[in-house]
Amino acid sequence: MMLIDHAELQRIALRLFEAAGSQPDEAQIIADHLIEANLRGHDSHGVGLIPNYLQHLANGTVFANRKGRIVSEDGSLIVYDGERAWGQIAAREAVMVGIAKARETGVAVVALRNPHHIGRVGTYGEMCAEAGLVSFHFVNVTDARPAVAPWRGTDARFSTNPVCIAIPGPDPERPIILDMATSTIAMGKVRVARNKGERLKPGILIDGEGKPTTDPGAMYRQPRGALMTMGEHKGYALAFVCEMLAGALCGSGTMRPERQGRGTATNGMLTIVIDPSRLVDREWLHEEIAAMTAYITASPPARPDEPVLIPGDPERRTRAERIANGVPIDDETWRELTVAARGINVLIEPPGPESG
Ligand code: NAD
Repeated sequence: MMLIDHAELQRIALRLFEAAGSQPDEAQIIADHLIEANLRGHDSHGVGLIPNYLQHLANGTVFANRKGRIVSEDGSLIVYDGERAWGQIAAREAVMVGIAKARETGVAVVALRNPHHIGRVGTYGEMCAEAGLVSFHFVNVTDARPAVAPWRGTDARFSTNPVCIAIPGPDPERPIILDMATSTIAMGKVRVARNKGERLKPGILIDGEGKPTTDPGAMYRQPRGALMTMGEHKGYALAFVCEMLAGALCGSGTMRPERQGRGTATNGMLTIVIDPSRLVDREWLHEEIAAMTAYITASPPARPDEPVLIPGDPERRTRAERIANGVPIDDETWRELTVAARGINVLIEPPGPESG
């Protein structure tokens, strides 16, 4: 395990995407997105994804220097085709279109289909919150191998289908950002645990025979294991509706057998953006959020060193800590990065002593 200064890690990611063919501004957006995921503690969606991403580029399932396009616009309803652009680019464009529309009409519904993997969904909620807007994002996954078992089932039939809900609060530095997979943990966290040689907590995984296990390796053997949904039947029900909202309703496609294991990852995303000031007075809203947040977080903590937080707080805390001390990168992730870099003729240096 090493600690790498986030600016150094950002430079490495930037070089890799430029070498892979992206124009500098595109490479910058993708690199920023990945580093931000690491900074916010979601290493599953940080630079560790780059080797997979470069494989997808090589197998022609994602294209550099594309943005996607608006397919149709009907009042507040927009269909956006990602056209297999990098997901960080297509989803950003689609959400920017949604923000502009919600400012104009009070609400926007954006159906994003067919981008490459869009990364940390919280990024898009944060964009809306920064614009003073409330947003909902429902996401599904196709073209990858299914990773999550339905409640009462014993094998994987869909993916980690994340949900993000963002609400701007009175403090612009502290928006409410719920951003989570509907599985017990994100699939990338299984990869991170495997890379670190760690076991997972009980109740997260089943093995290839449908039996509970704590071994992350179960996801990398045949027959393959599966993640379980969070919150038992409730997480399953939420994952199920994500599949239908993002896969079916957005026109991106669901993870039916024909759309599995195609050596890449595609996200459908249904985004709903609302201008809250069209519903309530903004000052009143801020006062309500501030008062209720203060009330909830004043609950005496069960453990003195673990105060009650609001969604988005853990990520902000991790971000401050990692900006100060560096981003932890495990040896296997670093090895995979250097191998992937070599594949596109880039030599990435081990971090210098100042990197920790
Ligand atoms: P997680 O289990 O860490 O849950 C994160 C959510 O819980 C955040 O909203 C966080 O603020 C909140 N939270 C955590 N502790 C809290 C506390 N004590 N009090 C209040 N709120 C708290 O995250 P995850 O489910 O592992 O997801 C990780 C990332 O993976 C997310 O960014 C998600 O968007 C991303 N993801 C992406 C895809 C994709 O296909 N693109 C798929 C799955 C997950």
